Amino acid sequence: MNVIPPLDLTQQFQTIGDEVNAAVCAVLASGQYINGPLNQQFEQAFAHYIGTSECVVCNSGTDALYLALRAYDIGEGDEVITTPFTFIATAEVISMVRATPVFVDVDPETFNLDLAQVQAAITPRTRAIMPVHLFGQPVDMTQLMAIAQAHNLLVIEDCAQSTGAQWKDAKVGSIGHVGCFSFFPTKNLGACGDGGAVTINDAAIATRIRILREHGSRVRYYHEEIGMNSRLDAVQAAILQIKLRYLDTWNAQRQAVADRYQQLLNRVPGVVTPKPLPGGTSVWNQYTIRLTQPEGTSSGEWRDRIRQKLQEQGVSSMVYYPIPLHLQSVYQSLGYAAGRFPVAEQLAYEVLSLPMFPELSAQQQEQVFYALKDSLVH
Ligand SMILES: *Cc1c(COP(=O)(O)O)cnc(C)c1O
Repeated sequence: MNVIPPLDLTQQFQTIGDEVNAAVCAVLASGQYINGPLNQQFEQAFAHYIGTSECVVCNSGTDALYLALRAYDIGEGDEVITTPFTFIATAEVISMVRATPVFVDVDPETFNLDLAQVQAAITPRTRAIMPVHLFGQPVDMTQLMAIAQAHNLLVIEDCAQSTGAQWKDAKVGSIGHVGCFSFFPTKNLGACGDGGAVTINDAAIATRIRILREHGSRVRYYHEEIGMNSRLDAVQAAILQIKLRYLDTWNAQRQAVADRYQQLLNRVPGVVTPKPLPGGTSVWNQYTIRLTQPEGTSSGEWRDRIRQKLQEQGVSSMVYYPIPLHLQSVYQSLGYAAGRFPVAEQLAYEVLSLPMFPELSAQQQEQVFYALKDSLVH
């Protein structure tokens, strides 16, 4: 049986392997492995692609978020509003700078922050809002920026899953005060290892981030503040520069995959397909459906059973995310009880991410469709 993986990076490498091999060998031969001209070239290319004046590359998406918080002096006593339905890194960095993550529930259609609840969660201690464009689907940034401006709050966009996504005519990462990207291999623009970037239009904050990522130094061995080591390897910069040229093509292929899924799954009883907001252009880092739980089942057992049956028919799937952040053991100290964010909690029981990558074929998608239909009735 041919197993369909959730993601297959080998096919992508077949198309760009020669270019990547040559670029990697050139870096190896150059003897310059850290910083250097390739990093600067990629920073310029990525800033241009996103539509900001500056880009600062770093070691991961987590570091990008952390560096952004540090650069704006967000810390002890500050609150940052974010979503409980995301990867841990989003909230983790808020805790790392000793600020407090304040969760609000999400919208069941978009999986993103419920903006009406964001408004209600603002206190005198709130410094920033950290929206996540989850699964590649942009948050309504018009509404979010209006809320932020009315309360003089910073907007730190977590764009880890949404490289290339647009809200209206602007790329995410260029709309808030700062955009934070991950180049983890499974993201839309993935390195062959870890990597990340911050995009920003503020030259002073960009400089501060450059200082922080280099042990708090502007001039080597002269340290102004406590920073860290968060550099991007030259090998990764070389690879990312090549891949950036293909990103729009790959994202268009993901859109075609999403359209085919929508056609196939639209009328399957018990399946809710994702529908992007008008005004948003998703880049489909994940194609995540909801499997509505029949009466008498609970706690995700129905979804987990379907997932198991899919696996038996050669269809891999993933659950992003099985536990919302407010119920994680690490965040018990924040004092959120079960039931506090009913939408996030229900999504955790219902979501299933189907195989999604640019090269996924129509035939493979049909296999997913038949396997799913079969699993739901038997
Ligand atoms: C992947 C991811 C991150 C972290 O990026 P890393 O490069 O893995 O550190 C942060 N937020 C979200 C939403 C992510 O999906």
